[in-house]
Amino acid sequence: MNNNWQHGFYRRSVADRQAIVSEQRRLSPAQQQLMKEHATPLGNQLVENYLTDYRLPEGVTVGLLVNGRHYTVPMVVEEPSVIAAASNGAQRVARSGGFDAVTAPRLMIGQVIIKDVTDFADLQQWVKTHHDTILATANAAHPSMQKRGGGAVGLRLRQEPPFVSLDLEIDVQEAMGANCVNTMAEAVADLVRQQGWHVTAAILSNLATESVQEVTAHVALADLGGHGFSGKEAASGIADLSALAQVDPYRAATHNKGIMNGIDAVMIAAGNDWRAIESGAHAYAARDGQYRGLSTWQIQDAELIGHLALPLPTGVVGGSIGLNPQTRLNYQISGIQTARQLAQVAASVGLAQNLAALRALATNGIQAGHMKLQYRSLALSVGATAQEAPLVARQLAKAKHADKALAKDILLKLRKD
Ligand code: NDP
Repeated sequence: MNNNWQHGFYRRSVADRQAIVSEQRRLSPAQQQLMKEHATPLGNQLVENYLTDYRLPEGVTVGLLVNGRHYTVPMVVEEPSVIAAASNGAQRVARSGGFDAVTAPRLMIGQVIIKDVTDFADLQQWVKTHHDTILATANAAHPSMQKRGGGAVGLRLRQEPPFVSLDLEIDVQEAMGANCVNTMAEAVADLVRQQGWHVTAAILSNLATESVQEVTAHVALADLGGHGFSGKEAASGIADLSALAQVDPYRAATHNKGIMNGIDAVMIAAGNDWRAIESGAHAYAARDGQYRGLSTWQIQDAELIGHLALPLPTGVVGGSIGLNPQTRLNYQISGIQTARQLAQVAASVGLAQNLAALRALATNGIQAGHMKLQYRSLALSVGATAQEAPLVARQLAKAKHADKALAKDILLKLRKD
């Protein structure tokens, strides 16, 4: 195939790019129309080689109570059952008093990575002597951050042979701060190079151990029963699953996926970089060398107590947040105004999600509730219209084994009738 069209593709107009891709991939008139209808001027400003906007559904978790305040939280996700589970967990915790979220520290880490340090003590001494100069160099690279009360505030050296990392601790205030941190780290890298050391790279770390958000939930055992299980039985199953996630990485990965179902959806709706949050969460889950569940659940007296801790370097300014009117709409819906508040709410949604998933798993199994919500998608996947989908889904729910073939049969029968 002739790939000449790829040359300078990024310089083309959106209309030209759409026309080229339509021709190259033989898109149907309907597909071309879809691509054009969903294209926005903002999208073309945000990403390169822009073609169109790809849409995801948005819903809200209702009834989330964090530190005594009720939140309605926008969530953007393509998977059925995520928002239902978050709302279910949130309301269950609210009945027992809600989530307690600590006021977490909020510092980002910028790494200046130095290679082949022959005399570590010498480097250590230089950093100690020039502590204030190094911080001043970082702050001079982005002075407005210090003016608003933040900026570079701390330093540490870590040996990771053959490398040494000079970590800068930076208060980025209400931003996630990646660009600010990178600018400061590069300025310090220049200073380190001037002393004769070899700098490999200067960039922020997404393992934001100085921005760890903790949240706790106390749930009355009586509030956990159902599906033929007592509250105590359900709680005991949840505690067992939590213990398993601390020792078995196979289980821990799925345990954490459930937590991130909630957190990612909140992050996307809040215009935050969810890849940054994801990478930090998983690195934190493996911080002692073994990958573990990010949350724990334990029974104490007549309560099940859940605790979640993970890095949540959130931002309410910066990136695309101020540019995208839909993101601004979501802040209006949630009432979230600060980066700390966003981290507290996101962690609470993550723990709510985790509770709902573990409770289902510990009682009648994950599939019963999950599949009920997936039936509608199954119906749509075999061609049901929006009107037909709930009717097909209702019949699928009654079947012993629901699959595509059965969904097709039900749809055909429905249309015949
Ligand atoms: P921006 O570069 O948009 O910077 C945010 C800016 O907002 C600040 O630097 C500051 O600029 C301004 N600002 C206004 N009010 C405030 C306030 N109250 N508190 C703090 N800042 C304020 O975004 P970030 O630096 O936050 O970086 C986030 C972006 O970086 C995301 O889009 C992310 O995807 C991307 N990114 C992520 C990386 C990673 O995670 N590894 C790497 C590189 C980029 P001023 O001081 O000049 O007013």
